[in-house]
Amino acid sequence: MNAPTSTAVLAPTVKLLIGGKFVESQTTQWRNVVNPATQEVLARVPFATPEEINAAVASAKEAFKTWKKTPIGTRSRIFLKLQQLIRENMSELAALLTAEQGKTLPDAEGDVFRGLEVVEHAAGIGNLQLGELANNVANGVDTYTVLQPLGVCAGITPFNFPAMIPLWMFPMAIATGNTFVLKPSEQDPMVTMRLCELALEAGTPPGVLNVVHGGEDAVNAICDHADIKAISFVGSTKVGTHVYNRASLNGKRVQCMMGAKNHAIVVPDANKEQTLNALAGAAFGAAGQRCMALSVVILVGESQKWIPELVAKAKTLKVSGGTEKGTDVGPLISCAARDRVVGLIERGIADGATLELDGRNPSVPGYEKGNFVGPTIFSGVKPGMSIYDQEIFGPVLCLAAADTLDEAIEFINSNPNGNGTAIFTQSGAAARKFQEEIDVGQVGINVPIPVPVPIFSFTGSRASKLGDLGPYGKQVVMFYTQTKTVTARWFDDSTVSQGVNTTISLK
Ligand code: NAD
Repeated sequence: MNAPTSTAVLAPTVKLLIGGKFVESQTTQWRNVVNPATQEVLARVPFATPEEINAAVASAKEAFKTWKKTPIGTRSRIFLKLQQLIRENMSELAALLTAEQGKTLPDAEGDVFRGLEVVEHAAGIGNLQLGELANNVANGVDTYTVLQPLGVCAGITPFNFPAMIPLWMFPMAIATGNTFVLKPSEQDPMVTMRLCELALEAGTPPGVLNVVHGGEDAVNAICDHADIKAISFVGSTKVGTHVYNRASLNGKRVQCMMGAKNHAIVVPDANKEQTLNALAGAAFGAAGQRCMALSVVILVGESQKWIPELVAKAKTLKVSGGTEKGTDVGPLISCAARDRVVGLIERGIADGATLELDGRNPSVPGYEKGNFVGPTIFSGVKPGMSIYDQEIFGPVLCLAAADTLDEAIEFINSNPNGNGTAIFTQSGAAARKFQEEIDVGQVGINVPIPVPVPIFSFTGSRASKLGDLGPYGKQVVMFYTQTKTVTARWFDDSTVSQGVNTTISLK
């Protein structure tokens, strides 16, 4: 739900970041940032005016003139400092994240930490943004490439990783010499803003990093702005497809990482205890609000007998506020998200799936107003049911059955999404076959959430991704730069002229 409200609530305002200054928006449209465990209003976020968005882009454009020429070491040291500041402020960042997003404190630290890894990677930009050189491509001629920044780039982020995903974007964009305009999720922008404060404290010059807030209008303004050269988007397939089409038509480079329906296959030779732990953690952790959450498990053959044990394990998970010790499953981001997930559970029952565990209306003492749904498990799930066809984005696990590994692989490849997948097996041959034949970006072998570390790039296939290059890793260096190829001849003073060359051959 992105509709702004004009209700005045006396909570602190979230600022815009323009030209190195945190400024109050002049907008009349505000939205509350709400603690999803308690409904406490934590802050008000503005929907920036068109003038404010233009000002942010203009400041990034101006800053680019000097930032693009800034030495590698200067850029690199900002991220060395930023990683230190993030480490020093880890507990505070996690607490802020839990308050506005809902996930448990340890998982909030994980959210910050996975972003911190990208900051560490950005500090090594000197080794990443390297061109190529070929000596003597013709007589006295060398050819080399330089990877030059694009200009003003923009990032649009979702609510579910308000630390990690902004950190996927601005550190690598800035490290490669671009300037940046970030549009965080309007549902939980506070930890993102704190990270931006730390980025300024680490030495990011004014105008190099800017932040605007808002929803649809702000995103469309970014897609249309003539001075923005590239956009990184992470969010739902519907919005990502819109952003990709609109911004591409405007001549921008765009990468969109989008929705998912992540399947795991359980082969009966898998280690049962390890597998059931992995499945429960990946399906219900973060209340299922991860783009890499496991939402479908295909039980092959004898492993179909493991359902009661999986249900028993899911029942042991503690549903409570993210700040409570021992909590496994926190609240969903909003009342609307909870209502949607509950509605889908009802549809699942109506569509004929078997409800093995019902997480609707859990009792959560002390958090009676929170947006909680407990772990929910359906078996007998088939394509055509809404719980299978839609991304639920809640703690709901769908179980399906297959007789063979081939059938299970075919099942996954027939789903339109291709974000993440996993296989659980003790057989190298089964794992290798899976790895070869599955058409999904991130593949886990006995790893339920295979999010790559930043030496590699996040990826995705089919409906989960638009654009060729993924976030972080080597691919994002290509995304945020353009290749210039220089062919150079330096004549020796003693070189005798060979006369006029009217051919295309280098002589
Ligand atoms: P969302 O698409 O609703 O929002 C993403 C961004 O788009 C936000 O900044 C939002 O303000 C903006 N937006 C929302 N509606 C818009 C509209 N109509 N027009 C233009 N902009 C709009 O996504 P979300 O609910 O915040 O996040 C959850 C989704 O993100 C899930 O589908 C999840 O799978 C996906 N996700 C994907 C990845 C990945 O790497 N593939 C990672 C995290 C989340």
